[in-house]
Amino acid sequence: MGNLNSASLHSIVVDEEEIYVLSSSESIAVLEGANIDGVPLSEIGIPQFWWKIISGSDNLALALHRGPETFGQWWFLVLCLIGDEYKRVELLQGECESCDWTGWIATPLSNEIYTGSPDRIAAFNRAKTLPVVGCPECGGRLNKHAVWAARS
Ligand SMILES: [Zn+2]
Repeated sequence: MGNLNSASLHSIVVDEEEIYVLSSSESIAVLEGANIDGVPLSEIGIPQFWWKIISGSDNLALALHRGPETFGQWWFLVLCLIGDEYKRVELLQGECESCDWTGWIATPLSNEIYTGSPDRIAAFNRAKTLPVVGCPECGGRLNKHAVWAARS
């Protein structure tokens, strides 16, 4: 397993911040301990758990960013492809208000995920306008503002 170089990663701008979107093989490499530009990644445990959800979906991706106050540290982020744009999301357990379905959902309405964006409030307000998805089983309303819900 090789270490990674940020210059070779795919970078995009999300909420006016540069975000590095990892491919499957890059995600696996960092979760197995690869460093980026010689900087080891801390906090691998939670992203490893996220990866189980992300790797089963075509719309979710693991990403990394470096906020202005992070002293070179890399932070993990989950992105969800909505239309042709990646948006920041948080993975949570959700449930249907009409049937028994419970499962993983992705919500863009989390304050923490906008850390690093120069205008977090504007980013959060934009997220409120994203289209929500219904229950994967019955199409009913979910108990949270979800832009993605796991099939199963
Ligand atoms: Zn339902």
